[in-house]
Amino acid sequence: MLDRLMAPDSFFSKNFFFLAKRFVAGESIDSAIEAVRGLNAAGMTATLDFLGEDVLERDAAIKTRDAYLRMLDKIAQAGARSNVSVKLTAMGLLIDEDFALENLSTIIAYAAEKNPADPFVRIDMEGSAVTDATLRVFERAFAVHKNVGPVLQAYLKRTPADVARANELRARVRICKGAYNEPPEIAIKDMPAIRAQYMQCAQALLSGGTYPGIATHDPGPIELVKSFARANGIGPERFEFQMLYGVRPALQHRLVCEGYNLRVYVPFGTHWAGYFYRRVAERRENLLFALSSVFSR
Ligand SMILES: Cc1cc2nc3c(=O)[nH]c(=O)nc-3n(C[C@H](O)[C@H](O)[C@H](O)COP(=O)(O)OP(=O)(O)OC[C@H]3O[C@@H](n4cnc5c(N)ncnc54)[C@H](O)[C@@H]3O)c2cc1C
Repeated sequence: MLDRLMAPDSFFSKNFFFLAKRFVAGESIDSAIEAVRGLNAAGMTATLDFLGEDVLERDAAIKTRDAYLRMLDKIAQAGARSNVSVKLTAMGLLIDEDFALENLSTIIAYAAEKNPADPFVRIDMEGSAVTDATLRVFERAFAVHKNVGPVLQAYLKRTPADVARANELRARVRICKGAYNEPPEIAIKDMPAIRAQYMQCAQALLSGGTYPGIATHDPGPIELVKSFARANGIGPERFEFQMLYGVRPALQHRLVCEGYNLRVYVPFGTHWAGYFYRRVAERRENLLFALSSVFSR
């Protein structure tokens, strides 16, 4: 039922994009590039995400891969300061791991060629059913190309060990809390404990990692990261804060004014409903924000 509602050809997706507009930078690559230009002008970098996940047909995965190649062309043509974020299930991970690796590797090699100023390719982390497979594909890609890195989710009990492994590899990690509804056997469910594990992971990445992405809108951890970095002589050029398009823009600007690197995750495309649903599920106020931006247009 929910899958049907979220399909790009559903009545909801075809008629209700105006609701998602605050969090999704349009349905086309051109609208997303426009959004990136605005962020760049405000001193921020971006990572572009072509929305879509859980692809079950090879043709669809290849189309998504090719859309990423076109995105990299557009980034280069526009001279935009942006890299890209990729979901492996959109690259065919649920069909065949080798096939997903092949598609990912094509994007990584193309990014190095077309976007030398920021050739990095981020692998978003999805639900726990694919955590192991995602990290396996990441490590296989990383063995060949260094311009790729994973996301780790602080709510998973396994994550401190994954952080240690990433530091050993010297891989570039984005640390976030995690956006999926995971069972208590594998995930911490209590917010103060998630924050504590988030800080433990962020500190390990700041001390022993490679240019970590500190992805959160939560003012507490942001302040703790700043003071940990200051206290340990870790300059602001050694990490970046990351936030989602449309979320806490005033805080984004403040961090830039304070001299921190700030990257904004800019999702776009017609498969926006699942992403929008996760934003609303993690914070009911996001629906109010979406509605208020409609009425204040
Ligand atoms: C750049 C980026 C990339 C991400 N990539 C992934 C990924 O690959 N995989 C994944 O599972 N998850 C990903 N996430 C989502 C992440 O896991 C969280 O679900 C999401 O960021 C919410 O957690 P939070 O720490 O930002 O804030 P929360 O824990 O939701 O909220 C804590 C506090 O932050 C502030 N806040 C949060 N949201 C808002 C808002 N909309 N408006 C105003 N204040 C707000 C409030 O003060 C709130 O009390 C990503 C997040 C970011 C920022």
